[in-house]
Amino acid sequence: MTTATVNMVRLADADCMGEAELSELSIDQLRCLYRRYRKCALYLIDAKEVDAQLARFNPKSPVEWVMAIRSVRGDCPRCRGEGIYYWGACVNGKMTHSAPCARCNGTGRVGNDDCRRAYVYDNFAIARALGF
Ligand SMILES: [Zn+2]
Repeated sequence: MTTATVNMVRLADADCMGEAELSELSIDQLRCLYRRYRKCALYLIDAKEVDAQLARFNPKSPVEWVMAIRSVRGDCPRCRGEGIYYWGACVNGKMTHSAPCARCNGTGRVGNDDCRRAYVYDNFAIARALGF
């Protein structure tokens, strides 16, 4: 007995693919990509909101489903959707320091690209802090 194996595509490679490249993938690879992108989206927002945002794109083909799930966006967890990150001491109800949020680039909303950028930066910062 043999088991069918899906030739998986790395998310890092899939992020750089446009609609033309995605259409060359098999249906199993596209399903696998969709599941992994959905897992990332569920980290930001709940399933109801993901489905509501997907419904607005009205995807028909598997490639459109992958493109749609990549476009799902949620409130930035770092700045709580304000677009401005505060830190320092709280003096008379105001924080002493603030700057545009780096996670969401000051927009207050994060998507797949922003999460990926933040993940890569976090790994870089950890490696730098540990002296690698
Ligand atoms: Zn933010």
